[in-house]
Amino acid sequence: MTNKQKYKGLVLLGDRHAEVREFPYSEPKTGEILIQMKAAGICGSDLHFYRNTPEELGIRRAVVIGHEPSGIVEKVGPGVSIFRPGDRIAVNHTLGCNHCEYCLAGETALCSENVGIAAAGFGGDAEYALMPANTCFHLPQELSFIEGTFIACTGATVYNALRKLKPSGRDKLVVFGLGPVGLSAVLVGKALGATIFGVDVIPERLEMAKMLGVSEVINASETNPIEAVQSLTEGKGVELALETSGSPVAQSDAVDILRP
Ligand SMILES: [Zn+2]
Ligand SMILES: [Zn+2]
Repeated sequence: MTNKQKYKGLVLLGDRHAEVREFPYSEPKTGEILIQMKAAGICGSDLHFYRNTPEELGIRRAVVIGHEPSGIVEKVGPGVSIFRPGDRIAVNHTLGCNHCEYCLAGETALCSENVGIAAAGFGGDAEYALMPANTCFHLPQELSFIEGTFIACTGATVYNALRKLKPSGRDKLVVFGLGPVGLSAVLVGKALGATIFGVDVIPERLEMAKMLGVSEVINASETNPIEAVQSLTEGKGVELALETSGSPVAQSDAVDILRP
């Protein structure tokens, strides 16, 4: 970067138009680090923005998008002591006020003033990005940069939900919706010992869930998920359910499917 004056980044212009543009290099300010990007995930929310009109994009129009980056620290700004050039890092995708009870507990996504890093001007889909150091964390050597992008949003979202459900080897967990978040729940839930049933309406997703180790898949377009789960559990229902599809029917089923 030292010889370059500009870096490339991906911007959205609205109505499914995306463009790679050049941005002037700038030094990290107080509390910021400059990251050389190695990998960046594409989130479901990025696809929503991609399909937005220019008006709907608002402050996200023509700025670098992306909130699931990982990379290597290139430079640190004044006041940053926990990172050094060369450190491998991943990024928590949401900034908060830094002083409410949620921010102090590390739950910036729950802060009433929360804003995504891209909307705040720190988009990750670029060769380089400035980032507030307090939203970055060290990526252990044994995890790849691609795994770092998974932790940044999808994996952390699921882990936070499952941390509240506390699945174990005693539990059967129904996961509604087998997109990236639901499939991540399959991986994490299985690693925590639960027996998992997966529900979706897309055959490819049901197949993928089988490959990742769900015990049973239920195609909700062919079978009533509640009846299917009851027949799998001798009419008892399950201990835990996680809804990731956003479907109101699935949200209701996720409650009705629980055992008393
Ligand atoms: Zn995301
Ligand atoms: Zn806050």
